[in-house]
Amino acid sequence: MAKKQFKAESKRLLDMMINSIYTHKEIFLRELISNASDAIDKLAYAALTDDKVGLSRSDFAIWLTPDKDARTLTIEDNGIGMTREELESNLGTIAKSGSLKFKEELAEKEGEKGDVDVIGQFGVGFYSAFMVADKVTVTSRAYGSDEAWQWESSGADGYTVTESAKESAGTKIVLHIKENAEGEDYDQFLSQYTLQSLVKKYSDYVRFPIKMAMEKSRQTEKPADAGDDWKGGWETYTEIETLNSMVPLWQRPKNEITPEAAAEFYKSKFGDYEEPLGYITANVEGAVTYKALLFIPAHAPFDLYTRDYQGGLQLYSSGVLIMDKCKELLPEWFRFIPGVVDTQDVSLNISREMLQHTRQLEVIRNNLEKKIRAELLKIQKDKPQEYARFWREFGLLLKYSAMNSYGANKENLRELLMFPTTHESGLTSLKDYVSRMAEGQEYIYYAAADDAAQAGKLPQSERVLAKGYEILCTASSEDELLLQILGEQDGKKFKSVNDDDALPQSDEEKQAAEKQAEDAKALLDFVKETLGDKVHAVRTSRKLVSHPVCMTTEGPVTLEMEKYFKQQSQLSGMEVGAGMTAQRVLELNPASPAFAALQRAFETDKDKAAKYARVLYCQALLIAGLPLEDPAAYADLVCSLMD
Ligand code: ADP
Repeated sequence: MAKKQFKAESKRLLDMMINSIYTHKEIFLRELISNASDAIDKLAYAALTDDKVGLSRSDFAIWLTPDKDARTLTIEDNGIGMTREELESNLGTIAKSGSLKFKEELAEKEGEKGDVDVIGQFGVGFYSAFMVADKVTVTSRAYGSDEAWQWESSGADGYTVTESAKESAGTKIVLHIKENAEGEDYDQFLSQYTLQSLVKKYSDYVRFPIKMAMEKSRQTEKPADAGDDWKGGWETYTEIETLNSMVPLWQRPKNEITPEAAAEFYKSKFGDYEEPLGYITANVEGAVTYKALLFIPAHAPFDLYTRDYQGGLQLYSSGVLIMDKCKELLPEWFRFIPGVVDTQDVSLNISREMLQHTRQLEVIRNNLEKKIRAELLKIQKDKPQEYARFWREFGLLLKYSAMNSYGANKENLRELLMFPTTHESGLTSLKDYVSRMAEGQEYIYYAAADDAAQAGKLPQSERVLAKGYEILCTASSEDELLLQILGEQDGKKFKSVNDDDALPQSDEEKQAAEKQAEDAKALLDFVKETLGDKVHAVRTSRKLVSHPVCMTTEGPVTLEMEKYFKQQSQLSGMEVGAGMTAQRVLELNPASPAFAALQRAFETDKDKAAKYARVLYCQALLIAGLPLEDPAAYADLVCSLMD
């Protein structure tokens, strides 16, 4: 019979499994048991509404059967099974949530290479069977069908699908275990005791019994007619044992949900290679009774920011998985939180559509939202490094969520939001900023820059820092918008260091500044004329201390926004519209030696003064992190002044 070929990607994965040097090959068992458990979950769900299933919860099981003589290990379940088409599409191609390529790329990005990491970090599902088996035979009968089909493959040269027979729905996987090779002990996977300990290690919490006929020995009973010289003896017998405790972690008393157990559970259940940053347990009795176990992942799922991303919690009711990704159990902004909710208070007969509207889910969601926030705030307070990491991964989502619908949810998120700061902590919540505010400090200051270090170096920041005040960095246009939407923190308003009145000024100071501007009017007009359209206005600055020059803006578009629009238009290939450029204001420091030099040149040598004006303009661009229109011309200009 002609062999069918694997899809290219699957073939690569398969090759990788067959030739794997991975040391923890034993995880194949975890993967196959987890598939079996998923399949049973599906049929158990169907059984709720369909009497024809004919099985009750206690009938479901996963069977392990090692056979040393035949060198086979059989894993059998009475779950939903697979049709012929499903066998082909599920086992002939990779049906994993992320593709192999993505996984390899990620493993490489994380600085590691090769099969070891892909296998170790992500688990690889069904194909992991080929790490320990040189032939795999899958016989399956889908629930509701009276046909059974057999899929078989000895590796990368392809697979066959043939008609077969099976008494009832479910899947039976026979692994033909490889011969021992140098340094590789495959025999162990035929040993009952190894299998027993592997189930304990990886699959203890599987909610259906994993059964195995254990061969045991016992002392023979003394026959009634045996004489005094009876020596006794041993006999073997088999006993069917359930290898796993079956109590899922979330159903256990709180003191048994240790950080280690939680991390292990999280990794195997949600397929993450990294430990979670934290976890949340709930055991609530009241208007709605439920148990929950949620996790705060250390990194964002790769598709979090795509349209395809589907978040949600697993919803169990009376031990049956009702929904794999129940969105209604989480607010939008925590949609990346994985976990499990188990409650008897949602009616099992309602359809999945109806489920969305039940009041119980809303009660649970509101409770969980508070608990997640509290846990995050705890991490923020006790482990700032870890929170910084969390913020890098999920901050964007939280920021956008706080801005969505004109800030409708901002108060739920306010305390979680972080900003880069000139304070030594590097990253701060607004509340912490306020708690550090100096005596007499009126505002929360911010400056637009790529990072906090740059924000601190801006000429216009100098006077604010000199007062001992801290400056937040708005690294992107959405940060500025976010501050606008938040409005204030503990009664303190936000103030850009660019504002003329960022620091309170006395009447005398104001008058002096006005006089300075008047005195310099001819010079300022000259500079404006020299620069033409490049700037909207030229002014004497009230905000500079030692620096000679800075660039600020007037009107709604800031320099940060302009940079953002430019980036966007480069990505989309569209022109930057006129309304998307900032109106630039060149500010000169009348107290600086450079200003004095400009003034002198203006009085004696207009050509030189024009050159000075252009140099100052270019410097202002550079300081603001903006590109020079013509860097070579700028270099020539500076050199021409060195004569
Ligand atoms: P994953 O389980 O991550 O989807 P696998 O490669 O392990 O990836 O399995 C691919 C698919 O094959 C599963 O999604 C499931 O639909 C199907 N499958 C695997 N094992 C079984 C089983 N024992 N019973 C029913 N379907 C199964």
